[in-house]
Amino acid sequence: MATPLEPPSTAPEATAPEATAPEATAPEATASAPTVTAPAQDTPLTGERPADRRVDPYLGTVVHVVGTRQARPNLPSTGCPFCPGGLEAPEPYDVRWFKNRWPAMHPDRCEVVLYTSQHDATFWSLGVAGARKVIDLWAERFAELGGRDDVDHVLIFENRGPEVGATIAHPHGQIYAYDHVPDRPGRLLANGWRPEADPDERFVVDHGGWTAWVPVASTFPMALTIAPREQLPDIVSLDDTARDELAAMLVDVLERLDRYYGVPLPYMMWLNQRPTDGGDWPTAWFHIELVSPWRRESTARFIAAAEVACNEYFNPVIPEVVAERLRELGPARP
Ligand SMILES: [Zn+2]
Repeated sequence: MATPLEPPSTAPEATAPEATAPEATAPEATASAPTVTAPAQDTPLTGERPADRRVDPYLGTVVHVVGTRQARPNLPSTGCPFCPGGLEAPEPYDVRWFKNRWPAMHPDRCEVVLYTSQHDATFWSLGVAGARKVIDLWAERFAELGGRDDVDHVLIFENRGPEVGATIAHPHGQIYAYDHVPDRPGRLLANGWRPEADPDERFVVDHGGWTAWVPVASTFPMALTIAPREQLPDIVSLDDTARDELAAMLVDVLERLDRYYGVPLPYMMWLNQRPTDGGDWPTAWFHIELVSPWRRESTARFIAAAEVACNEYFNPVIPEVVAERLRELGPARP
């Protein structure tokens, strides 16, 4: 049986969602085991081994073996834990962060970020002002986590929709604080990543100093990259204007993506930023990547044996066509 969109072992974006992008309190996608009963939180289903990082001796692939995560409940037993009054949000809030109850690494390295107290909201329905609050909280957490001596890389990300591992619908994202610079962001930096000077047919939209375009060779059928045209290393470096413009960009493109098929698009989104290992990183260029496994409405692209075997991909969706459609959709009408 084919594996749903499983990325190359060396490219984190391609990793199966349940393997590397598990949700916080939530359960990963339940596609293959929807009826499993939630075990008690402290039930040692797989033995109480500490999380352990292993490396494939031939490929260099890093695998975090985290047996305790098997004990995560598939669905919260009572109500939404992220709604005000819920387990993770006892008080009213606008945006909020807390430590992940089911961390993929050491508990003080995994956080959850709530975008809004409104359960049925989306990122784009927050509007520019609401999205700006999320951006400010991302910056605050990046500074706090990145300031630690034992944190070399901070990854801010979101899994949206059960198709990519999120079973709690309440709008939220996550943060992982690594004690090393992982392979993929390290390679982007080492190769001097910078925005495409002219994405041409793959251009989607500009907002202030920001551009969004469809990348030339994503392994995913749907992909979008967002970056400032002027070099900035991280989200903390964005001034008020840049943050508002980024908020407007995210609201616009995420809204378009939900209109692309007329139903909420499952996606993975993450922020690429400078390492926080104490180095200077003068060429680090902040950018956001967003990918979806869907090749058409409600149909995920499967990654098959040849792709997994050779780490070369066959994308049935033409990036230039995705960009054209996104341009045609235009910004949301008020
Ligand atoms: Zn909720």
